[in-house]
Amino acid sequence: MTTKDSGGDVRLSGISKTYGSFTAVHPLDLTVPEGSFFALLGASGCGKTTTLRMIAGLEEPTTGTVRLGDQDVTALPPYKRPVNTVFQSYALFPHLDIFENVAFGLRRRGVKSVKKQVEEMLDLVQLGEQARKKPHQLSGGQQQRVAVARALINHPKVLLLDEPLGALDLKLRRQMQLELKRIQTEVGITFIHVTHDQEEAMTMADCVAVMNAGRVEQLGAPAELYENPRTTFVANFLGTSNLIEAEVDTKAGDEIVLKAGGGKLTLPVGRCSASTATGGKVLVGVRPEKISLVHADDAGEIPEGRNRITGTIADASFIGVSTQYVIDSPVCSELAVYVQNVERDGRLVPGADVVLHWNPAHTFGLDAAQDID
Ligand code: ATP
Repeated sequence: MTTKDSGGDVRLSGISKTYGSFTAVHPLDLTVPEGSFFALLGASGCGKTTTLRMIAGLEEPTTGTVRLGDQDVTALPPYKRPVNTVFQSYALFPHLDIFENVAFGLRRRGVKSVKKQVEEMLDLVQLGEQARKKPHQLSGGQQQRVAVARALINHPKVLLLDEPLGALDLKLRRQMQLELKRIQTEVGITFIHVTHDQEEAMTMADCVAVMNAGRVEQLGAPAELYENPRTTFVANFLGTSNLIEAEVDTKAGDEIVLKAGGGKLTLPVGRCSASTATGGKVLVGVRPEKISLVHADDAGEIPEGRNRITGTIADASFIGVSTQYVIDSPVCSELAVYVQNVERDGRLVPGADVVLHWNPAHTFGLDAAQDID
């Protein structure tokens, strides 16, 4: 498929789903930009599949509307919507060969000459050589690519993917993540991908909606979500976060100064989602790879203007490219620090007194009143 098929944005307005007294999806407003690779990310049971199924028309929303470009599709049955879904169980026809599996949608619509289109589609998913094999003769990753080709041949404006890589082993999963990204770039249509795997969502998507208990907690580009999470749930779901309890001391210009233990930490106002009123409780976060570690004897060499805390190494694990340290500090137990091994200092062993320091710009502030998951 060489032409870009544009379908407009997918717009969910006030969409919700309740089953009896249980609300699986709370009223949700969400716009998926046309042509984007969009991920709905969250733990099992957070409502991501239900949201996807409401876009597909497989689930009727309790409230709200689904629009595709200019069209309100809320009342349309699935087959009348310009969308197609790829499921984790590939749902290929076992008795048909790969060519016929992909041709199926065209034949059902009465298209007479399918050869060119099917071949193009098999080339797109790099299975041109496998056309005459049966599904059971292909690997899991190849079968999943057939499922993608079969869905794309109908020229949907939006492709919905429900944990499509869930059945694959880790190595194949990684390959398929890149492969799906390549396919999406090539066809140019909107992909909406449901996954519980944060690394998968971050690798593939331009934009990620992190869902928790039927709500979108935060929406943004992967790097933005990782570097500037707005809730403890997002901070913890997208990797390891070090959360230090602190209290607002002063606010001066673009900077907040916080008291943590006996020391001070600073953070940019724009990176704090908690109240910045003096005395307010804030959880100060910093990712493990943003922290530098020096032996306490070298503390004098730390440049001015860095956030710093003292601690003792509780554990150190060498993992090839980096060493992962666990630090006990008066302000927080079990802080994680990842240090590239090119910078490793032989004195940094369990029991050593250390100083952790980092650029205040890499700090984020969260509302301490939230639960830490
Ligand atoms: P998973 O990754 O496990 O599929 P999910 O985030 O996709 O999880 P959903 O499948 O959307 O979650 O389900 C959200 C919640 O709604 C779950 O608690 C689930 O048990 C509930 N649920 C889903 N379908 C129904 C149904 N038909 N009847 C009752 N409850 C349902």
